[in-house]
Order: sequence, then C-alpha cells, then structure tokens
Amino acid sequence: MLGGTFDPIHLGHLVAASEALHQLELDQVVFVPAGRPWQKSVYSDGEDRFLMTTLGVMGHARFSTSRVELDRRGPTYTVDTLSTMRDFWGEETKLFFITGGDTLAGLSTWHEVHKLAGVAELVAVTRPGSDVGSIAREDTWPNIHVLDIPLLAVSGTDVRRRVASGRPIDFLVPPEVVSYIRDHGLYVEAASA
Ligand code: ATP
Repeated sequence: MLGGTFDPIHLGHLVAASEALHQLELDQVVFVPAGRPWQKSVYSDGEDRFLMTTLGVMGHARFSTSRVELDRRGPTYTVDTLSTMRDFWGEETKLFFITGGDTLAGLSTWHEVHKLAGVAELVAVTRPGSDVGSIAREDTWPNIHVLDIPLLAVSGTDVRRRVASGRPIDFLVPPEVVSYIRDHGLYVEAASA
C-alpha cells in the first residue's frame, strides 16, 4: 500500500512504488488516496485525486488504486485502511506500507501507530531532504525496510505551485494527469499548501 493525498500523483510516487515492487519483489502496489487527510487542511476534491491517481497508474500492470479511504466516513487513519486490507487479502498475504522519509519522521504522532506494526511491514524510501537511515535507526518499528531510490525533488505542493504560476509540469506528472489538470482547471487559482 502506498497512501497519500496524491494532489496530484507525480513521478516521486511512481518511482517509489516501482522501486518497492522491484527491490522487495512485491506482487502489486495499491495506491490509496486519502479521504480526509487528518494532517492536512487543504486538499482537492477526493474524486479528482482518485481519478488522477487512477490515470497515473493505469499503464502499469502491477499498480492499482483503491477507494477504501475515500468511501469511508470520518477522518482517514492508516491503521483502519491496513486492517481493511488485511481482512480483504487474508492472513496469508504479507502487507507492506510504503512511505517516504518525510512521512516517517512524523510516524510516532500517528493514530494508533503501535497497531500498525502488527498488520504490515514498513517500507521507507529515500526522499530529498529526509535522512531515512537515521530516522529508521531511531524508530522502534520492528520490521522496517529502508530503500535507496532515485532522489526526485518533486512534491504535490510544487506541482500545484507550478500550475498556479503558469510553469510546466510535463514529465513531473504522467501526461494523462497533465491533461486532466488542464481540462479541469485544477490548481490555477492559488497554490494550496
Ligand atoms: P504535498 O506536497 O501535497 O504534501 P507530497 O507529494 O509530499 O504532497 P503525498 O502525495 O501525500 O505527498 O505522498 C504520498 C507518499 O509518497 C508519502 O509517503 C510521501 O513521503 C511519498 N512521496 C511523495 N513524493 C515523494 C518523492 N519525491 N520521493 C519519495 N517519496 C515521495
């Protein structure tokens, strides 16, 4: 599982998923757009984020998207999502929760974080500006995989700011997503933080 706001999906997400798939020999990566991200106050409509994420992954046979968080009422908690996935896939399926180094830094503040380790193994990928190795060493998560991946200094925030200021986003997000953003007039008003 790769959870996030995906506002919008970008190459950083796709490379992280592809590297996790390859390095850990996973069967598939499910991208899960957050319904109501409890740690972020500004985000685009969930349906736009879901459609963009689906458009972004559709060229890859082992990537898919899930509506599990969008269709759940109330705030989005990763522990609930992983429990739903555990129920769906069954005990025999090994679950991995993929996250960027920046997210890992705040992990200890997550809702019921102690339960996560019992449901999934944590995968922390390198991201510019975050020292995944040292965070992972300090962390108490029992089963953590630290993956070195190509460092891509791209974020949803940067993509939104680029659109708002008329700069290109080609090659930072998949071409289908570039078209969706343009056709739906997303991010033109102001660069949401
Ligand atoms: P925003 O700038 O809107 O906060 P973001 O791109 O940083 O967005 P999310 O869409 O919430 O963040 O990211 C989902 C997951 O993907 C997080 O675990 C995040 O750390 C990871 N991720 C995002 N961008 C990258 C990147 N460039 N390299 C590695 N991991 C990334």
